[in-house]
Amino acid sequence: MNTNPLPSGDWPTLEQGWVWLCGAGPGDPGLLTLHALNALRQADVIVYDALVDKRILDWAGPHTTLEYAGKRGGKPSAKQRDISLRLVELAKQGKRVLRLKGGDPFVFGRGGEEGQTLVQHGIPIRIIPGISAGIGGLAYAGIPVTHRDVNQSVTFVTGHDQSGETPSSLNWKAISDGSQVLVIYMGMKHMERISAELLNAGRAADEPCAVVTSATTPDQQVLETTLGNMVADIETAGLTPPAIVCIGKSVLMRQALDWAAMAKGQAPRNTDPLGRGRPAESA
Ligand code: SAH
Repeated sequence: MNTNPLPSGDWPTLEQGWVWLCGAGPGDPGLLTLHALNALRQADVIVYDALVDKRILDWAGPHTTLEYAGKRGGKPSAKQRDISLRLVELAKQGKRVLRLKGGDPFVFGRGGEEGQTLVQHGIPIRIIPGISAGIGGLAYAGIPVTHRDVNQSVTFVTGHDQSGETPSSLNWKAISDGSQVLVIYMGMKHMERISAELLNAGRAADEPCAVVTSATTPDQQVLETTLGNMVADIETAGLTPPAIVCIGKSVLMRQALDWAAMAKGQAPRNTDPLGRGRPAESA
């Protein structure tokens, strides 16, 4: 256990019978919040998901029980209802419960459902946001999710719905027309359909795209491609989930902002990828 103290301040106490729903960020333990660290130190039991980086669990207190809630050894995922009821059960036993989820618990993370079930059972909760993969993961690849020359809006899309299929309720035309940059979570399985829908809705085949797998971890891989070539390039590169897909011109900014490459001594490929000259000095 790492015993580094938290910075001085009034850190909340995780009381018995409470559940804290907490984001663990996309991977790099340095992206954990101080509230998350405070929670890790106090919990009696941590119920964690597959996407929580194992290095983060090393920060738990010595007395803490770790409980995995996700796919294991090919068995199907624990059912959402079972996980929620397990949290209720642990809280009713008087445990100090930390529900730790990858990224942010309220971004495609079912944090709202779990919180609602807990509240309906009279269990008090606290929500601790985390850095979501669709923002922080792209930043680790040098891609700004908004960039003034590119987009005034960004749309976060899930590639799965509850049935595991491409969300049939999505209006791809509206999504395509509605924002210059799209960020797709859980999209790998259905990328063929998703890219076809977007092309059909009028997005250009040469539109820049990036696929970032295992973002912010030592295994991070970044594929730069286009909407038209993405499916083939994912296959050629042999990329596997978890992956965040970004569609839009902000991907080009990676040519200037690939800070991981710079840390390895490489010069930026292009300091003006959008051909706009220097950013304006004033607001
Ligand atoms: N609550 C999480 C998202 C959970 S949905 C968050 O806020 O980030 C699971 C999806 O998140 C994955 O299929 C993938 O699309 C994305 N994801 C989570 N962690 C990731 C990572 N380290 N690298 C790339 N994608 C990630």
